[in-house]
Amino acid sequence: IITLNNVQKSFGEISVLNDVSFSVDKGQVVALIGASGSGKSTALRCIDRLEVINGGSIEVCGHRVDDPHLDLRRLRQDVGIVFQSYNLFPHLTIEQNITLGPLSVKKQPKQDARRLAHSVLEQVGLADKAESYPEQLSGGQQQRAAIARSLAMKPKVMLFDEVTSALDPKLTGEVLRVIERLAGSGMTMIMVTHEMNFARRIADKVVFMHQGRVHESGDASILQQPATSELQDFISNEL
Ligand code: ATP
Ligand code: MG
Repeated sequence: IITLNNVQKSFGEISVLNDVSFSVDKGQVVALIGASGSGKSTALRCIDRLEVINGGSIEVCGHRVDDPHLDLRRLRQDVGIVFQSYNLFPHLTIEQNITLGPLSVKKQPKQDARRLAHSVLEQVGLADKAESYPEQLSGGQQQRAAIARSLAMKPKVMLFDEVTSALDPKLTGEVLRVIERLAGSGMTMIMVTHEMNFARRIADKVVFMHQGRVHESGDASILQQPATSELQDFISNEL
């Protein structure tokens, strides 16, 4: 459902992704790991065409992301992306934040959008927070609201970029449980994470990036038995 083929990405003279290839099957959970600066966020941003690649190809849910004639709106409907910072609109309630996309992009009737908002809030354990404003929520709750907002667009794949790294351990747990439940429901996802235990538990596949390349990949067992010294070093630094 997602395929990257020999993807190249540079910013000016600096080459950030070199020959990056990996694929994600429908329903798979992929953990994208690697040291700071190894290119993880850039790879996710390329998948959602927030960055334009310089070489290779990317296909997502049947969209050729590298095609200059790509229909961005349709791509973005199929791909949900959640970042470390939640980017909720502070002047809108949680429900208004969530219904914004369905109302404006999908032109859904108001009643349907509200019903949808309540069902996705239920999914992330925030059914009682629809009328709250973002600042009235904890960091973990805001992050779950951001996930709910993404889910309201009914994406086919979800991309998570270090969604828990700004949170303390207790709030991290709440957010990870939401992601785990989503994975259990069959959502296809790529998550950039430093939570190695979480990756070990829920990832069907682990992709380890090092200096802009896929250095090692495989099922979660590579976290127990890394083949390369770079992955070994990375894991021991994370513990
Ligand atoms: P982290 O774990 O710190 O989030 P990362 O693996 O997500 O790191 P990226 O954000 O993808 O790393 O960055 C990879 C490299 O690309 C870094 O050297 C970074 O400085 C560079 N880079 C990223 N975005 C830009 C940009 N817009 N302009 C120039 N260089 C950039
Ligand atoms: Mg990053």
